[in-house]
Amino acid sequence: MSVDKAMSIFGNSIFGHKAQDTAVPAPGASSAAGGKGVEKTDAQWREELTPEEYHVLRQAGTERPYTGEYWDTHTAGVYQCRACGTELFTSKEKFDSHCGWPSFWAPLAEGNVRYIHDRTLGMDRVEVRCASCDSHLGHVFEGEGFGTPTDQRFCINSISIRLVPQEDSQVSGAEREN
Ligand SMILES: [Zn+2]
Repeated sequence: MSVDKAMSIFGNSIFGHKAQDTAVPAPGASSAAGGKGVEKTDAQWREELTPEEYHVLRQAGTERPYTGEYWDTHTAGVYQCRACGTELFTSKEKFDSHCGWPSFWAPLAEGNVRYIHDRTLGMDRVEVRCASCDSHLGHVFEGEGFGTPTDQRFCINSISIRLVPQEDSQVSGAEREN
C-alpha cells in the first residue's frame, strides 16, 4: 500500500485556512492572537521595538502630550504603522487639534485600523489599533466640534506611526531615465 502524499498535501490546502477573526484580546494579552497579517511573539516585539515603542504599541501606553515627533507636523506624506509598516493615515486627513498628539479626522482606509471599546482609567473611549499587527495606536473621539468632515478625532501617538514624506515615495518611478 502506498500512501498518496501529494493527495494529502493538496487536500490540506493552505487556502482553506481563513484568517480567524478572533475575539478582541486585551492589550498585552498573548500577542499571537488577533491581527490579520502580522503575528509575532511578545519576545519578538520586545526585540524589534525600542522600549518606548513597545510600551505604547504593545502595552497600550500613551506618550506625553507635546512630546511626540508629529503632533505639530504638516509635512505631506503617509503615516505608517511603526510596528509593521501598514499605511494607516495621510497628511490630508491630519488637522491641528492642539491636543498635543497627531490628530486625523479619518484613517487612510477603513479596514486598516480596528476599534475596541476601552473602559480603562474610568473613561469610556474607543481604542484604535493597527488591523494588521494589532498594535495600539491611540483613541478616536467624536463630536468635539472641530469642523472636520467627520467630526472625529483620531488621537494617535507619534511613536506608533512613522511619516514617509511624499517626496520620498515619488522618487522611485520618475527618476529612472538612464
Ligand atoms: Zn501594524
